[in-house]
Amino acid sequence: MALAENYELTPEKKAWQTHLILNDFYGELNLRQPRRSSMHELISTMLSHRTTHANEEKAYYRMREAYPTWEEVMAAPVEALTDTLETAQYPGAKAINIQKALKIIQDKSPDFSLDFLKDMSTEEAMEWLMGLPGVGLKTATLLLLFNFHQPVLPVDTHVYRVSQRIGIIGAKVSAEKAHAILLNMLPKEAPVLFNFHKHLYWHGQRICTWKNPNCEECPVKNLCNYYTEVRKKGVDKI
Ligand code: SF4
Repeated sequence: MALAENYELTPEKKAWQTHLILNDFYGELNLRQPRRSSMHELISTMLSHRTTHANEEKAYYRMREAYPTWEEVMAAPVEALTDTLETAQYPGAKAINIQKALKIIQDKSPDFSLDFLKDMSTEEAMEWLMGLPGVGLKTATLLLLFNFHQPVLPVDTHVYRVSQRIGIIGAKVSAEKAHAILLNMLPKEAPVLFNFHKHLYWHGQRICTWKNPNCEECPVKNLCNYYTEVRKKGVDKI
């Protein structure tokens, strides 16, 4: 595949070229077995807000060790549940949200299976999930894409920053709006959206870091507004 050499491509073309180039660079991924169960994905992602992955995992497993069943998590004194979540940011608020969300899930599905989401349209499932306390766009899209292979696109801080720097989305677009804008530029196919999400996430972690992006090593630099307009002119930040 030839690299696009022109950073003046339309945002739609940049999105597609970025997808193709990063597929080659990082390798195309298969959307097969989810990395964790639906309930694990949901509750862990609720814990992940402003929290590192390592600390999110510590909080999740400490909670499950102290309260092995979801009924026990629901019945736990909120202070004690909060203690188990202390490695996450805002453990008190998260403990309350998790208990409220579990109650709503139990009312809908007494065995805490989220498989009923399979019977909903993508829009209905998004709406239902985002009605849970502590569940926003990122959590709902991660769960629906990773576990239910629905055509949605999680936009976390890395996907957002890399998309903005390349010029796929504008500098003033909010993270909330970025979800719909990016989704409209890409095929509504879960495997494509999964690869786009994972690759931009990795790119943001490994090369297009918040501080000092490693542009010289970047395979999409020929597409990138930041590289062409800022880096090449020797300015440090946009
Ligand atoms: S060229 Fe630099 S700013 Fe642009 S995507 Fe690559 S690393 Fe990020």
